[in-house]
Amino acid sequence: MPEQLVLCSARGCRERAIVALRWRNPALHGAARTKQWVACPGHEQQLADFLDRRGFLLERASLSDEGAG
Ligand SMILES: [Zn+2]
Repeated sequence: MPEQLVLCSARGCRERAIVALRWRNPALHGAARTKQWVACPGHEQQLADFLDRRGFLLERASLSDEGAG
């Protein structure tokens, strides 16, 4: 069986995601709530910058670490 393939969250992108970006918009989400985007290498920085500029970015985690869950 093929391994689970996670696709990049960037609009129109069909590359395989290698990183998860966890974020929260304090204006919309309570403290217990987090959202997650996943990104390919080409979009990781773009998406992280987008979130970081707004102060939303909480955590950046690699998806390649098997079982790190
Ligand atoms: Zn992408």
